[in-house]
Amino acid sequence: MNEMIKNQKKFFSTNQTLSYKYRKEQLLKLKNVIIKYEQPLKDALYHDLHKSSFEAYSTEIGFTLHSISYALKHLKQWMKPKRRKTPIFMFGSNSYIYPEPYGQVLIIGPYNYPAQLVLEPLVGAIASGNTVIIKPSEYAKEVEKVIAKMIQETFDPSYIDVVTGDYQVTSKLLDERFDYIFFTGSTRVGQIVYEKASKHLTPVTLELGGKSPTIIDESANLKKAAASISFGKFMNAGQTCIAPDFIYVHESKKNELIKLLKKEVEIRYSNEETFGHIIHQGHFNRLKNLIDDDKVVYGNQLNMENNFISPTILSDVETTDKVMQEEIFGPILPILTYSNLDELIAQLKQGEKPLALYMFSKNKKHINKVLLELSFGGGAINDTIMHVSNGHIPFGGVGQSGIGAYHGKTSFDTFSHMKSIVTKKIHHTLAYPPYSESKERLIKKILK
Ligand code: NAD
Repeated sequence: MNEMIKNQKKFFSTNQTLSYKYRKEQLLKLKNVIIKYEQPLKDALYHDLHKSSFEAYSTEIGFTLHSISYALKHLKQWMKPKRRKTPIFMFGSNSYIYPEPYGQVLIIGPYNYPAQLVLEPLVGAIASGNTVIIKPSEYAKEVEKVIAKMIQETFDPSYIDVVTGDYQVTSKLLDERFDYIFFTGSTRVGQIVYEKASKHLTPVTLELGGKSPTIIDESANLKKAAASISFGKFMNAGQTCIAPDFIYVHESKKNELIKLLKKEVEIRYSNEETFGHIIHQGHFNRLKNLIDDDKVVYGNQLNMENNFISPTILSDVETTDKVMQEEIFGPILPILTYSNLDELIAQLKQGEKPLALYMFSKNKKHINKVLLELSFGGGAINDTIMHVSNGHIPFGGVGQSGIGAYHGKTSFDTFSHMKSIVTKKIHHTLAYPPYSESKERLIKKILK
């Protein structure tokens, strides 16, 4: 590991990654190898998570290809120094921002979108001119193998390499000194990463999780809400960081919503062949324990052999129930009710700031109130999860759901240090001693 990092540092100091030409070539190489490995990646995703071919393409392979195309289109512009305004008291100078790569980046990924969540940050890290070590999740075993193969056959290890292994390997990697750490995973491990990074004052992006609420008020179109929530929740068997974790529906609409949710799930997720599986037995058992049989209104078919849990809806859930004490990260959808939006907002404020929040409503006042008064990473109105797919807006958490953001141009910014530069054209010495009363009078006129 140590040798690997030394070699990358040496390579970075050759300045090869600094040119537009080099970065563009590497992005193209990445694009080509992802295209070449489309089928092996799909097979591995099916093996590890029972991910359907469509989801494998739309949420992992195609998702990343689209990001590379976008980066290729804009990279030249992103890399250019940007002129900024200069205040009047600095007359005769110009100001610029020069983006520069941090140097050596470590990317650590989780198991749920095991390809996309290491490749997507990789796009940003390459675009910004860094060298990279990738640590994919050890739980998505087959994907881990394909990622290692793809990267190692495409890039020189002194530029981009992959380290595989369990959490102890990740822990050892974190003891090394990097110039930037990009971590996606649980809040618990995020805290470990942050602590280890602090030793070298290494800057970090932490893309973490949490319990993302969905609010449905009395004005909402329930049919559309049910369709969108079942899509956001049951994709990848609920193992999506921004999946709606639980629903708060206005009490007058609960029964109708449950009826419509059942219908939606029947239409879209009743085919076991194309429904995701839970990553491993440990998570399967954890999820099984979160289901209170007395509250099940739909689903709850479990198969221990292949870690299958059917879409499961729980009703009359209370905040004190087990399912409300941790991020669910599985196909279990608890429904709670509320009667007063102000009280609900006050209650949600008591909890940690979530990664996402969704609201279904036609009432502008209600929507604006929620957007103004509640803090969360990002979200959607009358939709779920789709904000993650728009590279024009940053994606990230706040508070316990994360630090920093990426996607699109934000990825380039995340992996770049913005070097602020002033270039002086006209020499003047107003601010220099010797000071005088007239100089002070002048400075008082300017700085106020
Ligand atoms: P995890 O935190 O258990 O593991 C992620 C990575 O951390 C793995 O590569 C693992 O090797 C490493 N790791 C685990 N324990 C470690 C330790 N003690 N020391 C050092 N490294 C350690 O996460 P997971 O279970 O793979 O993924 C699920 C979590 O990730 C959920 O909380 C989910 O919300 C979150 N997530 C967030 C996003 C996002 O974009 N914000 C995306 C996907 C998943």
